[in-house]
Amino acid sequence: MLRAFQRASVALLVVLAVGCAHTPGQAWHRSVTAIAAGQDSAARVRAITDRLDALEIPWTRHLFTGPKGQDGTNIIADLGGTGEVLLIGAHHDRVAAGIGATDNASGSAAVLELAATLKQRPLANHHVKLAFWDLEEQGLLGSAAWVAEHPEGAELYVNFDVFGWGDTLWVMAPDGATSISHAVQAATTAAGLAVSIGTQYPPTDHLPFLKAERPAVSFSLVDASEIKGILAMYAGEKLAAAPKVMQVIHTDKDQMDQLDTPDVKRALPVVLEALRRWDLDHAAH
Ligand SMILES: [Zn+2]
Repeated sequence: MLRAFQRASVALLVVLAVGCAHTPGQAWHRSVTAIAAGQDSAARVRAITDRLDALEIPWTRHLFTGPKGQDGTNIIADLGGTGEVLLIGAHHDRVAAGIGATDNASGSAAVLELAATLKQRPLANHHVKLAFWDLEEQGLLGSAAWVAEHPEGAELYVNFDVFGWGDTLWVMAPDGATSISHAVQAATTAAGLAVSIGTQYPPTDHLPFLKAERPAVSFSLVDASEIKGILAMYAGEKLAAAPKVMQVIHTDKDQMDQLDTPDVKRALPVVLEALRRWDLDHAAH
């Protein structure tokens, strides 16, 4: 009886596991796990390209050399589509401390799982490319190298850095990026997801684009209560109680156990909806 019950339970678990395999939250968690498990940069890149291969999204390796001779590898993938380029990206490198689950396997996995959905149902008006940058932690070197080599740029670059938990979509949008800001507002309002949009933001891979006067936005998922403290700490203030993001990233605590998959599962479709609204807004060129 017990054995039969156990067998039935196992069967049920298998059914549940298979059933969940296609939900964005579980797929995201699997991708974060695979990327963060990589012992070195090559293994992390391989986790990303394995997922791209599984999704049948073609990709290429772009080697670059930083200003101090640092060797880096960006991965650029091509989802196809017609129209101007929408580039969606995240950095795949990490610092030595921790395993980089939050910073930034979480963002890389967000890009992969958005791509999985966009592959099934492409945007109507844009050619979507993906970028997985190297050496962000050494000064945004991978994204800077790509911007320097691609004066044609993209109509919009959408960056993901730190996307592992939280109740609020935190968006860097420069003044004048009204179209994507409106789309984000509309999508978050429709979904009942809290959003914070502004120009103050930690340094990440959107910056080389903005410096070259290319449109770029950046997305993080955090708790609303963290934002003020994160900005204060990046401004050099010392806080009695650091917000969770600042306690986790670039420390030994950057492990899988800090992530909250249901939060990400809730937020990713909202980001996708914002991109779809932006895409429809830009129908005529
Ligand atoms: Zn980062």
